[in-house]
Amino acid sequence: MNDGDCIFCKIVAGELPAERVDEDGHTIAFMDINPWTRGHALVIPREHSRNLYEVGEDDLGHVAVASKRLARRMRDRFGCHGVNLLNSCEPAAWQTVFHFHVHVIPRFRDDPLRLPGSPLKAEAAELAAVAAELRD
Ligand code: AMP
Ligand code: ZN
Repeated sequence: MNDGDCIFCKIVAGELPAERVDEDGHTIAFMDINPWTRGHALVIPREHSRNLYEVGEDDLGHVAVASKRLARRMRDRFGCHGVNLLNSCEPAAWQTVFHFHVHVIPRFRDDPLRLPGSPLKAEAAELAAVAAELRD
C-alpha cells in the first residue's frame, strides 16, 4: 500500500522527478536533492512504510542488498575512500521524510563531514544495567 501524501511514494510512482540510479523489483535508489557529499543517494523500498519500526523484514533485506550494490558502485565509479550508511527513525533521530530510506553517502578522505557528537564515558555498572534492560 502506498501513501498518497508521501513524496517518496510519488517518486516510486513517477509522479515526482528524481535522478534514479538503481532499481530492482523491491527497491529504487536516487540522488538526494541536498547531498552531504558528492554522490549521496537514498535507497527506498517501493512499498510504503514509515520507518525502521514499521518496515517489513523482506523490504529491509532488499534495501540492505541494494545499498551494498550501490556502495560498491560508488567505490568503483567515484573512487571514494569509504561509504556511510545512515538511517534515521523518528524526528528525535533526525528523520524528516516518513518513508523508510537508507542514505548511502560516499566518503572522501578530505570531505567536510564530521561526527555530530562524541562518545560518552560509561561505568561498567551502568553498561551492565543498560544491557540488562535490553536483554530478552
Ligand atoms: P531524513 O532526514 O533521514 O528523513 O532524510 C530525508 C532526505 O531526503 C534528506 O536528505 C533530503 O535531502 C532528501 N529529500 C527530500 N526530498 C527529496 C526529493 N524530492 N528527492 C530527493 N531527495 C529528497
Ligand atoms: Zn511512501
